[in-house]
Amino acid sequence: MIFSEWVSIGYLISASLFILGLKKLGHPRTAPAGNQLGAMGMLVAVLTTVADMHLEGGAQWTLIISGILVGSAIGYIMAVKVEMTGMPELVALFNGFGGAASALVALSESWKYIENEELLLPSGLELEVLMVAAGLSALVGWMTLTGSILAMFKLKGGIEIFGKWFRTPTWGPSWLNYVKVSLTFAVLALIYLSISDPRDQEILFAIILISSVLGIIIVLPIGGADMPVVVSLLNSFSGIAAAFTGFIIGNSVLIVAGSLVGASGLILTFIMCKAMNRTLPDVLFKSFGGAEKETLTRTKVGSDAEEVAMMVDGAQKVIIVPGYGMAVSQCQHQVKEFADLLEERFQTEVKYAIHPVAGRMPGHMNVLLAEANVPYDQLIEMEEINPEFPECDMAVVIGANDTCNPAARSGEGPLAGMPIIDADKARTVVIIKRSLSVGYAGVDNDLFYEDKTMMLFGDGKKMMNELNSAIKDL
Ligand code: NDP
Repeated sequence: MIFSEWVSIGYLISASLFILGLKKLGHPRTAPAGNQLGAMGMLVAVLTTVADMHLEGGAQWTLIISGILVGSAIGYIMAVKVEMTGMPELVALFNGFGGAASALVALSESWKYIENEELLLPSGLELEVLMVAAGLSALVGWMTLTGSILAMFKLKGGIEIFGKWFRTPTWGPSWLNYVKVSLTFAVLALIYLSISDPRDQEILFAIILISSVLGIIIVLPIGGADMPVVVSLLNSFSGIAAAFTGFIIGNSVLIVAGSLVGASGLILTFIMCKAMNRTLPDVLFKSFGGAEKETLTRTKVGSDAEEVAMMVDGAQKVIIVPGYGMAVSQCQHQVKEFADLLEERFQTEVKYAIHPVAGRMPGHMNVLLAEANVPYDQLIEMEEINPEFPECDMAVVIGANDTCNPAARSGEGPLAGMPIIDADKARTVVIIKRSLSVGYAGVDNDLFYEDKTMMLFGDGKKMMNELNSAIKDL
């Protein structure tokens, strides 16, 4: 068998591993195996690509091996050091890196032909076609880089780089929509111009500049509950940029992997939009999240763990509603212990209500609860669990806020129209969080102030430990 056939087989194996891995990511039980298959696919793809580069001399090998070592070390350190609560920011940053890497490879490849008129193009490829692909890769790649970096800061809750202005990271007057549309058309016009003058470097630089600005002004108005949609859209963009670049450098596995990321990211984006009851144009042009955080004026007296333990004794059905605060306090093991105690001591039926955007990344609650060995059949999706709340004795809300905020039903404000967990329909509600403060979308929550609601103020882990001890002492 000739060498190029071995290369094709290597790429085929890695593409198959990507597809199998993606399929396994569809269920929490098989997701860890899916992740490993994807990583193995990437390893096969990298090794095959390096073998196919026909490196000669120590200098070339040193360059490639140094790149692999430095990249692996950075990836390893970031993955080990990141807190579970920092995962969404890391994902956003990796999306940006993916977009930038694709755009840079496309730029360097097209640059070779712009600089050197003598250089022969791969057979069957015209320079004009290559420049269109490079322009599209630049548009999507640079937009993904700047948009993802801004999204990362927004997920962190803003950063004080430029003083007060940047501490309010959501800003989007309606005229900005005209700017977005005009800049998109400007880039498309420049790509069209590059067909008639494919060696014009200024066109390429103008595309990069405008695309970078576009990324910022697309993400700038988006905030609050719509952030998950934009993060998954940027993820999809990073794949699309990779697919364009794969076309430019003639690398089939990059086209396959990029298309898989692009398509699956788009599907996830639409699933998130559906979960939020939004359309993609709504998210991109209406900036639901643009409201200022509400200032609290109301008060509520807190309960204590003993009081809640006595209420729980006798409850036949309890639904646990986890949210971002559970991730922050890392109390999933205490939550599982609480559920076990109820089942063992009071024969209570316990279920978990999972909102699609609870936490700060898709599947955040499933990952945490799976880590604590909560059985998958107890994790019930929002639409399925909501009809059960009216017959539920107690909803125990642990660090969730926006995802069970009845303000979403009002049709106004940043949460308008978002379907919520119907925790307020349970007979009694216990809410564990540190204060009465608002959630990610910045909207005050009337559920805290209802008569049937008991607030257990404090860090999630501390309060769950106190509650579990109080139940054991009954
Ligand atoms: P929220 O962000 O609405 O609220 C979380 C609550 O947790 C806060 O009100 C906070 O209250 C409490 N909390 C924080 N730290 C602790 C702690 N240590 N112990 C106990 N409680 C704590 O969470 P939800 O999960 O309900 O909603 C998720 C929100 O994030 C949605 O608006 C969603 O759109 C958005 N989002 C989701 C993403 C995703 O992909 N899932 C990505 C980006 C954004 P207090 O300070 O009083 O303790």
